[in-house]
Amino acid sequence: MASLSGSIQCRSCSPKALLPEAGAAVASKLGRKISVFPTPSRSLLPLLLRSSHPRVAVVSQLGRNELSKTAHASVADVSVEVSLDDAELPKGETWSVHKFGGTCVGNSQRIKNCANIVIKDDSERKLVVVSAMSKVTDMMYDLIHKAQARDDSYVFALDNVLEKHRSTALDLLEGSDLSSFLSRLDNDISNLKAMLRAIYIAGHATESFTDFVVGHGELWSAQMLSSVIRKSGEDCKWMDTREVLIVNPTNSNQADPDFTESEKRLDKWYSRNPARTIIATGFIASTPQNIPTTLKRDGSDFSAAIMGALLKARQVTIWTDVDGVYSADPRKVGEAVILETLSYQEAWEMSYFGANVLHPRTIIPVMRYNIPILIRNIFNLSAPGTKICHPRALEDEETPKLESYVKGFATIDNLALVNVEGTGMAGVPGTASAIFGAVKDVGANVIMISQASSEHSVCFAVPEKEVKAVAEALTARFSQALGAGRLSQVAVIPNCSILAAVGQKMASTPGVSATLFNALAKANINVRAIAQGCSEYNITVVVKREDCIRALRAVHSRFYLSRTTIAMGIIGPGLIGSTLLEQLRDQAAVLKEEFNIDLRVMGITGSRRMLLSDVGLDLSNWRELLSEKGEAGDLDKFVQHVRGNDFIPNTVLVDCTADSTVASHYYDWLRKGIHVITPNKRANSGPLDQYLKLRALQRQSYTHYFYEATVGAGLPIISTLRGLLETGDKILKIEGIFSGTLSYIFNNFVGKRPFSEVVAEAKEAGYTEPDPRDDLSGTDVARKVIILARECGLKLELANIPVESLVPERLRTCASAEEFMQKLPQFDKEMTAKLQEAEDAGQVLRYVGVVDVANRRGVVEMQKYSKDHPFAQLSGSDNIIAFTTKRYKEQPLIVRGPGAGAQVTAGGIFSDILRLASYLGAPS
Ligand code: ADP
Ligand code: ASP
Ligand code: MG
Repeated sequence: MASLSGSIQCRSCSPKALLPEAGAAVASKLGRKISVFPTPSRSLLPLLLRSSHPRVAVVSQLGRNELSKTAHASVADVSVEVSLDDAELPKGETWSVHKFGGTCVGNSQRIKNCANIVIKDDSERKLVVVSAMSKVTDMMYDLIHKAQARDDSYVFALDNVLEKHRSTALDLLEGSDLSSFLSRLDNDISNLKAMLRAIYIAGHATESFTDFVVGHGELWSAQMLSSVIRKSGEDCKWMDTREVLIVNPTNSNQADPDFTESEKRLDKWYSRNPARTIIATGFIASTPQNIPTTLKRDGSDFSAAIMGALLKARQVTIWTDVDGVYSADPRKVGEAVILETLSYQEAWEMSYFGANVLHPRTIIPVMRYNIPILIRNIFNLSAPGTKICHPRALEDEETPKLESYVKGFATIDNLALVNVEGTGMAGVPGTASAIFGAVKDVGANVIMISQASSEHSVCFAVPEKEVKAVAEALTARFSQALGAGRLSQVAVIPNCSILAAVGQKMASTPGVSATLFNALAKANINVRAIAQGCSEYNITVVVKREDCIRALRAVHSRFYLSRTTIAMGIIGPGLIGSTLLEQLRDQAAVLKEEFNIDLRVMGITGSRRMLLSDVGLDLSNWRELLSEKGEAGDLDKFVQHVRGNDFIPNTVLVDCTADSTVASHYYDWLRKGIHVITPNKRANSGPLDQYLKLRALQRQSYTHYFYEATVGAGLPIISTLRGLLETGDKILKIEGIFSGTLSYIFNNFVGKRPFSEVVAEAKEAGYTEPDPRDDLSGTDVARKVIILARECGLKLELANIPVESLVPERLRTCASAEEFMQKLPQFDKEMTAKLQEAEDAGQVLRYVGVVDVANRRGVVEMQKYSKDHPFAQLSGSDNIIAFTTKRYKEQPLIVRGPGAGAQVTAGGIFSDILRLASYLGAPS
């Protein structure tokens, strides 16, 4: 132990320097009355074990020069009386305060950069608060953790700390500046080594020792910056803020500044160091007992704000590595935007709820004196930054938009909800106080509280690491009530996150919270708890941790802080799929610019190969990419990729196949919150029970399933039918020519040529499927009939629809399409006879599908229509659909137009995609 205490060799605070006589001599020269500490104890271990304060080391931070002037400058030296000839600290507008964050002083070049910014500021007086070089505070905490854990590698870790600062100083300084810094650095490091050794032996570090150790980063960076600035000829001094800033530690891991005492000490410090530019250490402070402490992690912003308030400065500029305060954490929301201004309250709420660009306590000190804070990017001086000040009166805006009430969003992770529930709570005074009393006793920090007005339950969020103790304390505190059944449970819901929306007056503006919850619902995110303070500045929701980023992105994009962005996966790049991709490619820019809709194809998959992208595919060359960079097709992986890319809040899968296996996944996809759009008829015309399940799910959730192109390609058939049904019309009958192929054939089968010749012509013109039997069999029409019938509420299976096949019985088994075409003329006579019969009656033949809603049945058959019937007027391959309803009884509502072909089908799918975008909040 003796050797340990002996190893603390502190050159700059040699016992001699602290001898009362020496101090008194210097003091008398300066005309001050001072009190000097007795020589500090040099035995470290008792310090550690008794948690006494390391005063000796505080003084050790002062260089020899400073010490000669301030030999009395032990931080305990409070009782100094300032004599009349001392420089008096001027306060007010002449002061400009800057704060440089860790990344700003991350290396020698950056430190020079900071120096230039300070030098260029032509304010009369400047106070600059610096953080430790980036990562250094983490390195210092790591030293403590290692030493406590008796891990020898703390020695190497300390060498790294030394090396980092030594090499930075070698780059920056020269001559006596360099040598004095290095000797101080060496001295500090050898002290730290001894302290860490003691911690290593004790296997424990007291809080004050930890704070003392971790604060060194700021001491070193401040000294280096001040030397660089002094080199340019500026009148510049560095300040060990522990001599000035006095804070009272609180139980809740916070520090409350003592402004009165700090101001006194600042006056005193300035009287001895009357410089125009002061470089002050951020983060560190002292307790009223002069024990080194810190303002806790990220506390340098707070230091700057306190300094600004003490000086009543004109403004506080916080220099960091982003262009200002973003509408959401830019690491989580790529499309976050910079906020030009924020009110003090908004900034406070944003930082409290996790926007770590600003320490939450930064606001209060400056707000008191109305001092604006500017957040600026040291790496992008052209960016104006964010100004935090009193709010511009919202009334100035003529018609404030909903969005202007919401400034930004922030999140806090690693929380758990605690729910105390029971009928015995209602009307019992003191329950809340008993609950929170128990929580306070275990020292847990309650982040959010929500209580239903029925008083049936109280629910609150605490950090996950504290929840076990909280639950135990509550169970013990309420054991009697739980036993008697007055309380039913103390439940813990782990893995939660908080999402907060922040904005002046948002909570009192109708529509804001509705929009917020709507966006969450549409992204299929379940809200576990809600709180809205009457401060009107924030609405807080608790969500599952795994949903948090998606929730953040969904609400963010909903408030137009970024575009309505939809991640799309295209399944089946055949004729229709690739036509859709072409249309998307041609229209994407217009949608983005004019309609705020950002559609991103994150993947294309065929049955064998797929192409994936993290940000959205370039649709001008997807074919080449698919063949060159594509990978083996795997539908599960594909879906996971498209969905997993959760910087985009909404996902849609577009199934352009005619495949029933793909269709069988829709239910699962919808359940996961993935929207589905398709021209594939398989799901809606497949087994009834599966169809009903799918539709029930669609109705329950906010996930959308659109299939307009399953009937009549791009013609508005499903949407027309929906419109009629939803507005309360009663459908009596739907009758139509649903097949472009059969429409063409019957429009041209007018007696001049035999039926088989018309079919051959249609085949040649590409109107039919490769095997025309697929069209002539009527199955495709039957599928459309069943889709419409089910839409009208009829519970029919495909097998319930009688279908008149135009494929003669004997030709159904032909091996090939060629053989079929060859034999078809044998049946021309039958068809000619039917046509003749119709013509004799002044009618035409048409192949139609009918949904007879009144009689709850459907049919597909050849029918005769008089020549003035709309169905008789058809030409080409048009579809025509007539809706006979209660409202449209005399004259049916008719939709007519091209109902087949890649362009119109892809167009139908595209309009479903845009419908989805508008459901998700795109402007109309
Ligand atoms: P410094 O070391 O300069 O104090 P911090 O890392 O403490 O810097 O804070 C800046 C960081 O805060 C940014 O790099 C950014 O990643 C993060 N951040 C989180 N939320 C926001 C937000 N809403 N706006 C801006 N930055 C944010
Ligand atoms: N250096 C301290 C930290 O990293 C304080 C700060 O930079 O704000 O927590
Ligand atoms: Mg910070």
